[in-house]
Amino acid sequence: MEIVDIVPPILKNNVAVVTVDKLFKWARGNSIWPLSSGLACCAIEMMSTAAARFDLSRFGYEVFRAGPRQSDLLIVAGTLTWKMAPPLVRLYEEMPEPKYVIAMGSCAIGGGPFADSYSVVKGIDEVLPVDVYIPGCPPRPEALIDGMLKLKEKIMHPERVNEKTGTGNNEEKTEAVTA
Ligand code: SF4
Repeated sequence: MEIVDIVPPILKNNVAVVTVDKLFKWARGNSIWPLSSGLACCAIEMMSTAAARFDLSRFGYEVFRAGPRQSDLLIVAGTLTWKMAPPLVRLYEEMPEPKYVIAMGSCAIGGGPFADSYSVVKGIDEVLPVDVYIPGCPPRPEALIDGMLKLKEKIMHPERVNEKTGTGNNEEKTEAVTA
């Protein structure tokens, strides 16, 4: 007998039977709260994504929080320098689990036009576990929205995600920077 069979026929059109795990994933995937933080020019595109023209609130993602303890998404928008890496990692560590990271733009992905500089981190995945990469210099707001919808799919259907996406090994990476 399926669990749904215990629902009386008269209620079948009004009652949904799901596991708690599935319910949590649905809620998390549809109410991502990004941290208000930006490092360089990509952050301007991130800000316009939340403004009226692109209207991120259509997806439930417009609640940018002013502190890490109320956020579950860190959008690294801009150039990360080695000097700024420890504070950024500290912000990430202060976010509650489950938490996610988006690398927005060429600089966050691999150093971008500053990749040859001694002071620039050549990809934030050297210090943080990245869930979604969004290429571009800068990526347009539509690209950020697409990346956040990819993250939603990853949250709601983790079984579809290839293990080679660069996630995991979180503790080793953050320890290396804060040590
Ligand atoms: S990727 Fe381009 S637009 Fe984004 S922070 Fe780097 S230089 Fe600026």
